[in-house]
Amino acid sequence: LGIEDKLPSCLIGEELAWGDAGIQVHLMASGLGAKAIHAMGTEEQARHWLPRFCNPDNKPVIPGIAAFCLTEPGSGSHVTGLGTFAKKDGSDWIINGTKQFITNGSRADVYAVVAQTNPDAKTTMEQAAGLAGFIVEKGAKGLHPGKDYKKWGVLASDTTEVVFDNLRIPGENRLGNGESGGMMGVYETLEATRVLVGIGALGIARAAFETALEYAKTRVQKQPIIKYQAVSHKLAEMEMKIQAARALCWKAAWMATHDVPFTRGEGSQAKLYCS
Ligand SMILES: Cc1cc2nc3c(=O)[nH]c(=O)nc-3n(C[C@H](O)[C@H](O)[C@H](O)COP(=O)(O)OP(=O)(O)OC[C@H]3O[C@@H](n4cnc5c(N)ncnc54)[C@H](O)[C@@H]3O)c2cc1C
Repeated sequence: LGIEDKLPSCLIGEELAWGDAGIQVHLMASGLGAKAIHAMGTEEQARHWLPRFCNPDNKPVIPGIAAFCLTEPGSGSHVTGLGTFAKKDGSDWIINGTKQFITNGSRADVYAVVAQTNPDAKTTMEQAAGLAGFIVEKGAKGLHPGKDYKKWGVLASDTTEVVFDNLRIPGENRLGNGESGGMMGVYETLEATRVLVGIGALGIARAAFETALEYAKTRVQKQPIIKYQAVSHKLAEMEMKIQAARALCWKAAWMATHDVPFTRGEGSQAKLYCS
């Protein structure tokens, strides 16, 4: 699942994403939701929620599907500007808002939702301090999968809106100890899972390279076109970039696995270079 040991996820992810990242994204997006629970929740919450995705006892059951609900129509890169609010009501929380581009949005068993708990937050500091993570389970009253986006690729993975309409959850479904904000957990989740986005792009690139190589060997224009330097140089450069991309991903994956902090944005570097 890639929550703790990310290197095997890189190997499996690259193969799954060969030519199209749909299956890889669908399967590994559960790791995104699970990582959010791991990053924002307490040890006790992680122990309670994560086994259903990891199947640690190897039981003959289908692992659960998770979704991570952060992005909104008005809040993409600007993550502190969320317009989904969580309001305390007795010991419960009531969530209202709309998320967009959510992988597994219509089929998750568990949603890790990031919402703003301070309705008066105006500055970035206040907004960051007010962010918190919440667990919403499939079938909860007020949870509605919204629009299913039509995409050009990654078709095996569904990407939808998720709407929370006066959704009530018990107090224990708030992730964390109730004091610290969820902002650091959001960053940790995004940074740790960027590597696997990079790996998806790498699988697509490798398929493109292998297809181009095969074509260049078999397409004859007086001679196989791979014998023309202009063509073979281009193929050599593609191979070199794929190797470099893989090395960046594996390095970041190794660091994440061994708790070596990303001091130079290594997860972001891997994703940016690959994609
Ligand atoms: C297939 C798919 C699956 C996804 N799955 C999930 C999911 O499971 N959960 C989830 O929460 N989200 C998901 N997302 C959303 C994804 O994380 C967002 O698309 C991403 O955060 C960017 O937000 P945005 O699309 O609103 O772009 P914007 O933030 O609007 O950015 C648009 C452009 O402006 C640039 N830009 C923005 N701000 C700045 C700045 N300060 N300086 C310079 N340039 C800037 C960006 O680089 C980009 O080129 C998914 C997206 C896709 C496409």
